[in-house]
Amino acid sequence: MKHQPRVLIVEDEPSIAELIAVNLRHNGFQPTWAEDGVAAQRELDAVLPDAILLDWMLPGQSGVALAKKWRADARTKAIPILMLTARGDEPDKIMGLDAGADDYITKPFSTQEMLARIRAVLRRRAPEQVNDSVSIGELVLDAATHRVTWQGQPLKVGPTEYKLLHYLMKHPERVHSRGQLLDKVWGDHVFIEERTVDVHVKRLREALGVAGAMVETVRGAGYRLTAQAVIPTAAQG
Ligand code: CA
Repeated sequence: MKHQPRVLIVEDEPSIAELIAVNLRHNGFQPTWAEDGVAAQRELDAVLPDAILLDWMLPGQSGVALAKKWRADARTKAIPILMLTARGDEPDKIMGLDAGADDYITKPFSTQEMLARIRAVLRRRAPEQVNDSVSIGELVLDAATHRVTWQGQPLKVGPTEYKLLHYLMKHPERVHSRGQLLDKVWGDHVFIEERTVDVHVKRLREALGVAGAMVETVRGAGYRLTAQAVIPTAAQG
């Protein structure tokens, strides 16, 4: 249930890529591997990762050329890039950072160092991913444990509905268009229809039970989570 950050590994040496992937997987990340810039671009077109580990020396386009390209592209420019460089290549590091890399890791590197650097760039880029708790009225979402409660009672909320609820609760009393929700909750709406939002809002309302009334449809505009909603109370005897 915990959010597993996606990390795209762009590395032409299979043994290094495999080692990195295994370590990432064991530490709660979802790694994918691309052996060159063409394969990496294909991955990025399909789904945007939370971070990119980019080797400096690649067949075809170099890591620096790719970093520059992705920084110039509106779709990919916000993704943290960590360059993998060989020991002692000081000019490489400077060029890599100039090209838009967020950090660099010198080979050979320890797993702990790699994980620490990835976590650091994720924290800097995506503070909203930091686990915390948010409550609106009697609806409480605890991001550390992924639990949602209403009046202290746990609710069963699916993973996508959870992400949607988290976003709405962090930005309450405000109307969000379907397009905005796709951007913020799904991260990348290139291949997802806006109707998908309606489906998940419906499921979210069902999961919330009576508190589902807090998720309002704003005709022609989108959705809003509000503490002002009239919550149906249990029938009185
Ligand atoms: Ca290489």
